[in-house]
Amino acid sequence: MDFQVSERMQAALALIRTFVDRELVPLETAFLTQPFRSLLPELAKKRAKVKQMGLWAPGHPQELGGLGLDLVDLGLVSEALGRTPLGHFVFGCHAPDAGNVEILHLHGTPEQKRRWLAPLVAGEIRSCFSMTEVEMPGSNPVMMETTAVKDGSDYVINGQKWYTTAADGAAFAVVMAITDPEAPPHRRASMVIVPCDTPGFDLVRNINVMGHAGDDYFSHGEILYHSCRVPQENLLGPEGAGFAIAQERLGPGRIHHCMRWLGVCRRAFELMCARAAARRISPTETLADKDIVRAWVAESYAEIEAARLLTLHTAWRIDREGWRAARQDISMIKFVVAGTMQRVVDRALQVHGGLGMTDDTLLAFFFRHERAARIYDGPDEVQKLSLAKRILAERRA
Ligand SMILES: Cc1cc2nc3c(=O)[nH]c(=O)nc-3n(C[C@H](O)[C@H](O)[C@H](O)COP(=O)(O)OP(=O)(O)OC[C@H]3O[C@@H](n4cnc5c(N)ncnc54)[C@H](O)[C@@H]3O)c2cc1C
Repeated sequence: MDFQVSERMQAALALIRTFVDRELVPLETAFLTQPFRSLLPELAKKRAKVKQMGLWAPGHPQELGGLGLDLVDLGLVSEALGRTPLGHFVFGCHAPDAGNVEILHLHGTPEQKRRWLAPLVAGEIRSCFSMTEVEMPGSNPVMMETTAVKDGSDYVINGQKWYTTAADGAAFAVVMAITDPEAPPHRRASMVIVPCDTPGFDLVRNINVMGHAGDDYFSHGEILYHSCRVPQENLLGPEGAGFAIAQERLGPGRIHHCMRWLGVCRRAFELMCARAAARRISPTETLADKDIVRAWVAESYAEIEAARLLTLHTAWRIDREGWRAARQDISMIKFVVAGTMQRVVDRALQVHGGLGMTDDTLLAFFFRHERAARIYDGPDEVQKLSLAKRILAERRA
């Protein structure tokens, strides 16, 4: 295993860290207290600076205007950006657009690429990914009710989705819908591009998540598709290939998520250490003098390092051997890193006492919003079951 980071990459990471500290961290108070939409003009200026620095869209292929980094390098960038909730958005590598860029790049028609991919990579428009349904288990998406039925030269889509992240203000949705109910389960669904201004695309609400509905990019939409009609040219990839394409997206997407979560861990850890050192708990002692706090610092540090190595090793394997060979690792990092993040953020919040519960630090935001890491992109239990199944099958064989 060779994790050597090139000199060019080290220089880029140093630039990114400085940019995050100087340009983005100062915006966090506004981010925590104002609608996201009100920050957009300021964030547009920051994005322009990132483009000038030549650091825009680090994960996207060079021919699309990105940096084309491999997964290990991209993981390191993601970690550096994850220290602030604004990082990925300002550098043009934010979910779910990053995944949709990948899908469009690999499977889009020339016209789809011209209309959707080019402006998406440039950050001129946003998109969303609409798979999970209110009435069906997202953990087993083969059980899906939304349909896309052919009618003349169109598809007519009907169904109810929710948790369509960033639907508010998006230009288009990639919708998973059943196109052939008679096909084998994993061949039933297709991906269809639906412009969000299509009649019958109804953003019912931004779901209130842990007390916050959010807005614009930082929101999760519930969407009713009722007789929503789009041309059949909007099919993305072959008909029936929806789940196969979603699978392809999984490995790289997992690395982005896990390294971003490690960025969250780092920030929470920094806050915990700073607070422990500064907070007087008696005339002669700070919290950092207390053994229990020292144990939290040591445990957090060790857990972050372990989770980080596991994730970088997985990225390294995907880069060299492809995502299929790394399937076991991809399941593993999901629950290991999400659990590490939850514990580290919780300890950091505890060290802050009442302050930790306020929006005067980032910790309450992390605590509310990053809890979902153990649910989305395959809940912990599903990852553990699939990992154990493969391990036991190998033993039996
Ligand atoms: C913040 C957030 C953002 C999201 N963004 C998107 C998005 O952009 N697009 C999109 O389509 N979806 C999105 N989702 C939805 C997400 O993918 C689903 O919530 C997830 O797949 C789980 O599905 P579910 O909520 O229906 O839970 P269910 O499938 O009902 O599962 C509930 C619980 O049951 C347990 N469980 C499930 N299966 C098993 C099993 N086989 N064995 C044992 N236990 C099991 C797990 O503990 C799980 O948490 C998002 C969700 C959240 C919270």
